[in-house]
Amino acid sequence: MNMSIRLDDQVAIVTGAGRGLGRSHALALAARGAKVVVNDLADADGYAADAQAVAAEISAAGGEALVHSANVTDHSQVEDMVTKAMDQWNRVDILINNAGILRDKTFAKMPLDDFRLVIDVHLMGSVNCTKAVWEIMRQQSYGRIVFTSSSTGLYGNFGQANYGAAKMAMVGLMNALHLEGEKYNIHVNCLAPVAGTAMTDGLMPDKVFELLSPESVSPGIVFLAAPGAPSRKVLCAGGGSFALYKGFETDGVNLLPDNLTADGIADAWDAIDNELGMRQLQRGSDQTAKLALKSAENLGIDLAR
Ligand code: NAD
Repeated sequence: MNMSIRLDDQVAIVTGAGRGLGRSHALALAARGAKVVVNDLADADGYAADAQAVAAEISAAGGEALVHSANVTDHSQVEDMVTKAMDQWNRVDILINNAGILRDKTFAKMPLDDFRLVIDVHLMGSVNCTKAVWEIMRQQSYGRIVFTSSSTGLYGNFGQANYGAAKMAMVGLMNALHLEGEKYNIHVNCLAPVAGTAMTDGLMPDKVFELLSPESVSPGIVFLAAPGAPSRKVLCAGGGSFALYKGFETDGVNLLPDNLTADGIADAWDAIDNELGMRQLQRGSDQTAKLALKSAENLGIDLAR
């Protein structure tokens, strides 16, 4: 087996690592030599049993682990987690934002509190953790950050408006932080996994549940956490398959002033929707430039003058 990707002397934080995908990610990173902060929630007595068990597995295999029960929605708890990691190992190279919950209901029946909670755990939880390591990674000129997205965000799923919105927010966060982290060698990516875990228990047939093991996803995390990782990619992973989600913009049409109406758009709809020549834009300002150029060209205006 090719084990040339090594993470020796690197420190990784994995949130929600007590079970499911997070557990598998933590074990996979440790197997490549990373020291791992195993984060998960604690019980009422403050004991994070699941995270302790994962840390024990890492130690038994000869690795190093630190348990921290920060609730990712609480920025001060997250800061404490990062401080403890720094006290112990003096760096943070890898952050895997994995912690998550579901509160599924149709939008019609969904209480706003369920919407807020899901946004808080997935979006603000990822923001809190990333904010707490960002300056450290900038100072080190090195960082690998992964946000956990989902096919629910990328494509939609019935009854998951809160979860889908939170998971697509991961892509927006990645897009901006990729640009801001670029010159500090901070690479930012998303993982869109599918796996049989407590979260998906009962949602898929037993055979599919077993086939889509967390362990079949985690090589994707090791790849995105490695020095040679790409940046701003959405890696879709499940059952040993890997693919990329990509966003494209059609070339579109520019309507002259006498046609610049909703009816003009309706008439041009097929051309607006035509995928020929569609492109992946690299930043928001690329779209501004594209639209301004199209307009100027159509109106015969020279923008250079
Ligand atoms: P899971 O429920 O098995 O594990 C999630 C872990 O996160 C749990 O151990 C939980 O205690 C922890 N957690 C929840 N809230 C937390 C908080 N506020 N602070 C710290 N820890 C917290 O679920 P999983 O399937 O392993 O999911 C892991 C991630 O992958 C989630 O972000 C999930 O949305 C995402 N995901 C999973 C699938 C899938 O098919 N399982 C698909 C798409 C995305």
